[in-house]
Amino acid sequence: MSEKLLAVKGMNDILPPDSARWERLESVVRDVMARYAYKNIRTPIVEQTPLFVRGLGQVTDIVEKEMYSFEDRLNGEALTLRPEATAGVVRAVAEHNLLYDGGKRLYYMGPMFRHERPQRGRYRQFHQIGAEALGFPGPELDAELIVLAADLWRELGLKDVRLEINSLGQPDERRAHRTALVAYLLQHEASLDPEAVRRLHTNPLRILDTKNPAMQDIVNRAPKLIDFLGEPSLAHFSAVKAVLDANGLAYSVNPRLVRGMDYYNLTVFEFVTDRLGSQGTVCGGGRYDYLFEQIGGKPAPAVGWALGVERVLELLKEQGEGAVLEAPDAYAVVPDAASMPLVMQTLRALRGQGVRIQMHAGLGNDGPGSMKSQFKKADASGARFALIFGSDELARGEVLVKPMRDASAGQTPRSMALAHEWAASLRHLQSAL
Ligand code: ATP
Ligand code: MG
Repeated sequence: MSEKLLAVKGMNDILPPDSARWERLESVVRDVMARYAYKNIRTPIVEQTPLFVRGLGQVTDIVEKEMYSFEDRLNGEALTLRPEATAGVVRAVAEHNLLYDGGKRLYYMGPMFRHERPQRGRYRQFHQIGAEALGFPGPELDAELIVLAADLWRELGLKDVRLEINSLGQPDERRAHRTALVAYLLQHEASLDPEAVRRLHTNPLRILDTKNPAMQDIVNRAPKLIDFLGEPSLAHFSAVKAVLDANGLAYSVNPRLVRGMDYYNLTVFEFVTDRLGSQGTVCGGGRYDYLFEQIGGKPAPAVGWALGVERVLELLKEQGEGAVLEAPDAYAVVPDAASMPLVMQTLRALRGQGVRIQMHAGLGNDGPGSMKSQFKKADASGARFALIFGSDELARGEVLVKPMRDASAGQTPRSMALAHEWAASLRHLQSAL
């Protein structure tokens, strides 16, 4: 026997009944996005490697060590499985000149790939849902996106996420801060960990993001970027906060929030929870006004966020939310295999009217299973009704509708009325067949 093949490490199968949680999340997202007039965009999973190298920044974790990159086997082109979708969205918007008649609000959902150490909330294929507002410079879009995310948590029933925000200012303000920061860190070089020393001259801002407990004191006392922001940057930040305040959204300003990608400026934010261990960021985003130019497009401002689907679902599950009962309305019990063609013709017509029906399967050469085993399956399916297609009833153009759940389990007058309606339409259908 040959070796059993398994899924790739860090890449998960999403199976029922869990897949129903995914579908529910996706449908809530579609609904909330529509309420805010965000439209769906779908870009390829594979992009040219330079898109991410230029877009995300050479010295980011993703580009340094997390990308699934390969050469096209025919023309040697450098390609990468997307580690995130913002760069691809910006590429598509620039490529198709979507901003010719003004800004666009877009959202996406789909798989992303990062070569990380798999653990709870951290996978190699994972899924993001993201929203982007492109072509708008104003703080109202930053605020709109944050409020939209908060509405999403409300609709999903997600609790215990807190909002942290910060402003990264503009490139010249960051440069002034960087000079001061490097000078400060050099004074304390002896107490820096090797990771920090390595970043000192490549990406010192990321040192502020360190999770090393031994370095917390040093980074806490480091020069703060916010003290280097000029009036326009501060005004932008205040305007965002004013909308959050008006909407009663609680937040804390975290001066050390810098985010992993180089492309951010002005507003950055994260929704975090303490309930998922160290994988506590469920959603992160910010403004990225320079990404279009960086990837060779016409300059355009933009802001967006991405949430981690696995982490959101994990949190919902922990909070006892998001479970979906995927039961059919009815289960078709078929005592006599000979009536199968007529039964299936009837069921198809009934499904055409929107009734969800699971038909008994298992009509071998020996005929259908016993009534007892069919009813056991009907019960296990969770259906509210069994439709019993006995030969005598069929001959009279009738079918028996048997309630499978008692009143306490939700047998409402409405569902009884519905059952009578089906019975009537079944009679009608069968007399027509
Ligand atoms: P982290 O600090 O946890 O590595 P990140 O800063 O790399 O997160 P982003 O690139 O901002 O994450 O992606 C947005 C969201 O996508 C994250 O907040 C998280 O919820 C989710 N995410 C990122 N990487 C993974 C992964 N490997 N597995 C599952 N979810 C992920
Ligand atoms: Mg990461």
